[in-house]
Amino acid sequence: MKSFLPRIEIDLSKLRDNARILCELYGQKGISVMGVSKAVLGEPCIIEAMIQGGVKYIADSRLENIQKMKAAGLLTDFVLLRTALSQAEAVVKVVDISFNSEIETLRELSYYASENNKVHQTVIMVELGDLREGVLPCNLAEFISKTLSFTHIEIVGIGCNLACYGGIKPDERNMNELSEQVNLLEQEFQIRLELISGGNSANHEWYKATQNVGRVNNLRLGESLLLGRESMNRKAIPDLHTQAFQLVAEVIESKSKPSVPVGMVGQDAFGNSPTFQDRGIHQRSIVALGRQDILVSGLKLDGDLEIIGSSSDHIIIDSENHNLQVGDEVSFDLDYGSLLAAMTSPFIRKTFVNYNSDLAA
Ligand SMILES: *Cc1c(COP(=O)(O)O)cnc(C)c1O
Repeated sequence: MKSFLPRIEIDLSKLRDNARILCELYGQKGISVMGVSKAVLGEPCIIEAMIQGGVKYIADSRLENIQKMKAAGLLTDFVLLRTALSQAEAVVKVVDISFNSEIETLRELSYYASENNKVHQTVIMVELGDLREGVLPCNLAEFISKTLSFTHIEIVGIGCNLACYGGIKPDERNMNELSEQVNLLEQEFQIRLELISGGNSANHEWYKATQNVGRVNNLRLGESLLLGRESMNRKAIPDLHTQAFQLVAEVIESKSKPSVPVGMVGQDAFGNSPTFQDRGIHQRSIVALGRQDILVSGLKLDGDLEIIGSSSDHIIIDSENHNLQVGDEVSFDLDYGSLLAAMTSPFIRKTFVNYNSDLAA
């Protein structure tokens, strides 16, 4: 039988290596690693590889993904990164820890926790400049004070998230501010904050450069576990695998054609008026994969092949120097955005290499 196309090939042994190396690296300065599963929709085999590599918690922004991982039999501490008021009841039932930044939501979580005879644990997110989620530092003490009044909520820590909306770099200044906030809150309220979650894959440079991580003792990593890169400059992290995922698609047409379309130019399928550079007659190949499946701008081809365009269902490649034939397979590297799209597309089959799982098939 021929392999399914298009498919994403996922090398689980490379993912285990990445997890092990990152846990060792961050462990050197006392930082634990939370594996972030959302980009791969909580795919249980992938998450199991992270756990085999040593990650301590698994965090996702979507309850559905966490439910999938639990149903598959994964045993770890699950953390919800994004909490919605309307989901409070389900949140309490599905996870023990959630990240929060709204009092109304915490009130609701406390209510449902008490209904279910549970204590729900929370990490309070602090806004340190990136302007996505988080309580402003000037309001933090009041926020913690209100949260402490909820009978079925336990504050296990505080966290921050940078480099997502505003592109703000984690650095000495904002990381020290997080540590100072921890110290202030612990003094003011006579509490102990166990989990200080300083950020994501963008914290790598700060970590490498800093002499002192302060109170930060956790990072939440998606991209660097999966793609082996930090996410501030997208540099590869030494010794990590950057090609644990490969997207493979099929050539369905390969012909020599002019490089400039013939006729009057109006709009393309997406409302753009394209322009073209005349390279003369070149061999062009079409692969059966398109914008409905993938973020084309995040794909990379090795060697002599170059992506020259795409539509909903087709990617067009200049294959002048490669001579692709109909039926050939083409492999692409993916960035984070393309990985997200590929894992979400129902048309792309997920296939595993170096499978070594205790989960039921
Ligand atoms: C997605 C997400 C992460 C993981 O980010 P990476 O850049 O993939 O490491 C961490 N924290 C939060 C709150 C997230 O939403």
